Amino acid sequence: MVSDSEAVSADSNSVDGDQADQPRRISILGATGSIGTSTLAVLDQHPGAFEVEAVTAFGNAESLARIAKHTRARIAVIADRRGHGSLVQALSGTGIEAASGEDAIIEAAGRPVDTVVAGIVGSAGLSPTLAAIRSGSNVALANKECLVCAGSVFVAEARVAGVTILPMDSEHNAVFQALGGNAIEDVDKIVLTASGGPFRDWTREAMASARPDDALKHPSWSMGPKITIDSATLMNKGLELIEAHHLFAVSGDKLDVVVHPQSIVHSMVSYRDGTTIAVLGEPDMRLPISHCLWWPDRGENMGLRLDLTKAGRLTFLKPDTNKFPALRLAREALEAGGWATNILNAANEVAVAAFLAGNVGFLEIARIAEDTIEVARSAGLDRSPSTVADALSLDRESRRIAKERVAGIDTRTTHH
Ligand code: NAD
Ligand code: MG
Repeated sequence: MVSDSEAVSADSNSVDGDQADQPRRISILGATGSIGTSTLAVLDQHPGAFEVEAVTAFGNAESLARIAKHTRARIAVIADRRGHGSLVQALSGTGIEAASGEDAIIEAAGRPVDTVVAGIVGSAGLSPTLAAIRSGSNVALANKECLVCAGSVFVAEARVAGVTILPMDSEHNAVFQALGGNAIEDVDKIVLTASGGPFRDWTREAMASARPDDALKHPSWSMGPKITIDSATLMNKGLELIEAHHLFAVSGDKLDVVVHPQSIVHSMVSYRDGTTIAVLGEPDMRLPISHCLWWPDRGENMGLRLDLTKAGRLTFLKPDTNKFPALRLAREALEAGGWATNILNAANEVAVAAFLAGNVGFLEIARIAEDTIEVARSAGLDRSPSTVADALSLDRESRRIAKERVAGIDTRTTHH
């Protein structure tokens, strides 16, 4: 585990020596997405250094086939079976295997490689990521929802399998690097930075009528739609608190959030002696991705050089949880336990999809999440999952409740 310095040094040794020049074998889950695309950009900058086993996507067969050919992957898998024909056709004569359906994604994710990039969005990534861990591959985890839905399970599974979860989320990647070989007992605070999102300077009143287009304009990062909306509500930072709790085995009171609009300081760790180690860099996902793919070594220069004389002024502010209740909600869920974080995630996924579809307002997102947790608690769903199957079943129940809330809001709005 990432919090286990012994595991870090043991693995460091195994990559040295005669294996050093061998291409590293990787698979990319969610290859057509934003993380997938940035991962491909890192591969392109290190020709011959990586060999790709599997690439997967939800439904875009053409784009997946293009990626499979470009990376010379062994297998390409699409979740949506309707794309099967197009995928087979696009790959005919290439020697690249084509498959479809969720089971095929799980099978591909479970092919042992050095590192599986977990770049699927949402709880759809749970079973494939678990398969990767169980097969003994290290997991470069972007898919933070895995830890929010079933963090204790994933951490325990990784320990049993003896694999490392490498944090690809930029903040957690920074924390991982800032922790270095230090003992977690010496940590006073882990401070996650947040850009503040596109509504940092908006009032609650203005946010109430924000459209998807407004929320999709992220000031410093270009990412998939779900995480971009999460960044606008600050739910993303809330999910990241939960993610950090599991990755680094620290309690909520050791986790802080600070708003840093320039996104240059990616996060920091303060030690009990008063020393703070911060990790800085350009806001570009290729940095944490390259770090994970090359770990415990370092990759080549990708043209990303931080010049602080050109970065301008770096500012840091306290987050406003009255304006952004999702952050408070995530903290409360973290304190309440694994059941609450699971429900929070499911309800948030439903609410974000409803907001993007124009069915609920921006401020309803956190409200739906909060109400769903309450309704689920009263329905006796407050038992923390102890397997990924449990987590998926709680996720399904919570989605059902959240969809009822969305339908309620929908009717109310249309009757106005
Ligand atoms: P995205 O929407 O751009 O891409 C998601 C990928 O997952 C696509 O390849 C899509 O085809 C695939 N996918 C979606 N639903 C699927 C399903 N049901 N079954 C199989 N595959 C499915 O999302 P993204 O921005 O790349 O984010 C991916 C994950 O990484 C998220 O958990 C996000 O929070 C995290 N993350 C992203 C960034 C970023 O810069 N984009 C940064 C940090 C963390
Ligand atoms: Mg992040």
